[in-house]
Amino acid sequence: MKTGLLCLLVETGQGLVLVDTGLGLADYAHPTRITRLFRIITEMPFDPQEAALNQIWRLGFRREDVRHIVLTHMHFDHCGGLPDFPEATIHVHRREYEAFVNGPRSPFELAYVRRHIERVQNWALYGSSGEKWFDFDAIRLPFDLEMWLVPLHGHSQGHCGVAIQAPVGWHFHVGDAGVDIERNHAPDWLIRAVLGPHWPRLRDFARIHPEIRMTASHMILESLRLGGGFV
Ligand SMILES: [Zn+2]
Repeated sequence: MKTGLLCLLVETGQGLVLVDTGLGLADYAHPTRITRLFRIITEMPFDPQEAALNQIWRLGFRREDVRHIVLTHMHFDHCGGLPDFPEATIHVHRREYEAFVNGPRSPFELAYVRRHIERVQNWALYGSSGEKWFDFDAIRLPFDLEMWLVPLHGHSQGHCGVAIQAPVGWHFHVGDAGVDIERNHAPDWLIRAVLGPHWPRLRDFARIHPEIRMTASHMILESLRLGGGFV
């Protein structure tokens, strides 16, 4: 299976906000056991130039310009780059943070790698707020540009999607709660077992809202260039 890890970089009045980091420089230089395993079972680009920090430098920004990082969840492939941004505030659902620090309690939680959070100084942890984004329970993030953390627990204990009001309209990144529809041939029971229970609802939401750009973490660039998304 060919894969990658989609990260989003958002310009806000509060500085750059990175949504998920992908692998970090240290993961390329000294891969952890879980990264080595992932490379065996998937086909992924394993080039340090792919690291978020290197890509951000190529865009002409500095490391310190990334003031905030929003995590869908804390599996190694989504937050391995945290050590590359030690000054950023890390925004994540409280349930996910607690699963990370208390884990691993299940085989999936073996995807939490302790060293990834060793340099983090500032956490912003969130619980339910009673607010809604469309018909999803959601938590407003503290940026001038409207961004919401959308709890989609299941793939991991505190897994969330992130909704961003981009200049061209809403972008709903569902992290590991959804799949790339073009390339997905997995049966529903398998998707549910691995990604949690939200896929049918997300697929329906995508159909009802073709104006909203929807992405999943492991979509490959080719799908995005096709103008893809979910539907
Ligand atoms: Zn994951």
